[in-house]
Amino acid sequence: MIADTTYDAAVIGGGPAGATAALCCARGGLSVIVLEKDTHPRFHIGESFLPRHYALLRELGLLDRFHTLPQVPKFGASFVMGNGEKARDFWFKPGPHGEESHAASLERAPFDQMVVSAAREAGAVVHESTGVRSIDRLGDGDVALTTTAGPVRARVLLDASGQGAVAGRHLGTRRQLPDLRRVAYYSHFTGVERREGRLGGSPIIVMCQEGWFWVIPLDEQRTSVGMVIGMDIIKAAGIAPDRALAWGIERTPYLRRIMAGARATDERNHVTADFSHRCEPFAGPGYFLVGDAATFVDPIFSTGVCMGMMSGRAAATAAAALLREPRRAERLRRDYARFVDGSSSVFFGMVRRYYRHGFREMFLNGTGPCGVHDAVIAVLAGHVFPRPVFALRWRLRLFKTLLDIHERIRPLVPKQPNFSLLTAGPAAA
Ligand SMILES: Cc1cc2nc3c(=O)[nH]c(=O)nc-3n(C[C@H](O)[C@H](O)[C@H](O)COP(=O)(O)OP(=O)(O)OC[C@H]3O[C@@H](n4cnc5c(N)ncnc54)[C@H](O)[C@@H]3O)c2cc1C
Repeated sequence: MIADTTYDAAVIGGGPAGATAALCCARGGLSVIVLEKDTHPRFHIGESFLPRHYALLRELGLLDRFHTLPQVPKFGASFVMGNGEKARDFWFKPGPHGEESHAASLERAPFDQMVVSAAREAGAVVHESTGVRSIDRLGDGDVALTTTAGPVRARVLLDASGQGAVAGRHLGTRRQLPDLRRVAYYSHFTGVERREGRLGGSPIIVMCQEGWFWVIPLDEQRTSVGMVIGMDIIKAAGIAPDRALAWGIERTPYLRRIMAGARATDERNHVTADFSHRCEPFAGPGYFLVGDAATFVDPIFSTGVCMGMMSGRAAATAAAALLREPRRAERLRRDYARFVDGSSSVFFGMVRRYYRHGFREMFLNGTGPCGVHDAVIAVLAGHVFPRPVFALRWRLRLFKTLLDIHERIRPLVPKQPNFSLLTAGPAAA
């Protein structure tokens, strides 16, 4: 049963975005309730973190706790064609304000539990196993929700319900992105071959015409492996969803090699479909949308948790200011929406380019004029908040122009054959 109190802030969802929002609200002196339909620790995908995220954990005072969790340090990322014929390793560099040039990958369940525990210790009231069924009123200073444990009232709503997008659906603003419609199949394995030294922690992105795979070391033993491809490919190939990942691995020589001795540790094959979306406006009367509940970009560059926690902190700051000075509401909402838009747009642009074969050819070539490749790596490290610095923006524009020239006018780097899952044969054995 939920106490009969009007909270300053109600947060839907106790994932990293919601827990960060609650932590920052509580530290800012607001009374805050978190409503989470699941119970921590619970499985979640999103296991590879960015250097900017690592810096954020330090800024939030969570780095010591973070280091107690089993994890694999990550100093860069590797990209390889599915046939294994072309590969490139990239190393992160420090951010524009001296932020860290490394990050880590780890299992999400203990991480998410750690952030929610920090919020609870800071004073947030956390109700797990409590789903939000409906938003009954949504206005400045007047929010009413119906949950599985009874009604909840608050002065402002922070919706961090992830792909559930409770407020976006309530408002009818959730918009799917037709050009980014994809599905992911994934599982955890032991016995996946790793490289020596620092490269052993780098996530590997394995590319194919239909999409890509991730290989992310999670701890000493386990590796997360997943495949992201177009929505209809598996169905059209007549493959059962629980066979899709194995089907993709069998057809990809590079994965066949490094997974020759691998065993799945997870009985389930997880599937997540159609995850890229936007719910605009990101803030409005009575609410702020946080993390995936605001927008989610294809996971190719591992940006989700960093974006989610960044927006959680920004929304908590904006909500506290709004409750103190309601007359500034419009301005605060506009600034918050700009923050989410400014930092997510750069990722959307990069993701769209990634699916062009020319981008992969240029990227795998490894170098370019005027530091354009470093600009791409800076985005991959998450150094884009609150928005990319000018030196990054013009280099990204130059990279896009070079990509257009490479694809439409004349090749700037050697052409690479594409690798297709559909034309590749399965393993002989
Ligand atoms: C295939 C795939 C791979 C990914 N890989 C990466 C990666 O490598 N690195 C990375 O950073 N990100 C990755 N992501 C993205 C990452 O998973 C998300 O961006 C991140 O979890 C967002 O955090 P969040 O708190 O906004 O949402 P979530 O973590 O999804 O949390 C939302 C919470 O809200 C709860 N909830 C939902 N509806 C309700 C309701 N009605 N009432 C109460 N509670 C509710 C849910 O139970 C959940 O706990 C990946 C995503 C996908 C799909």
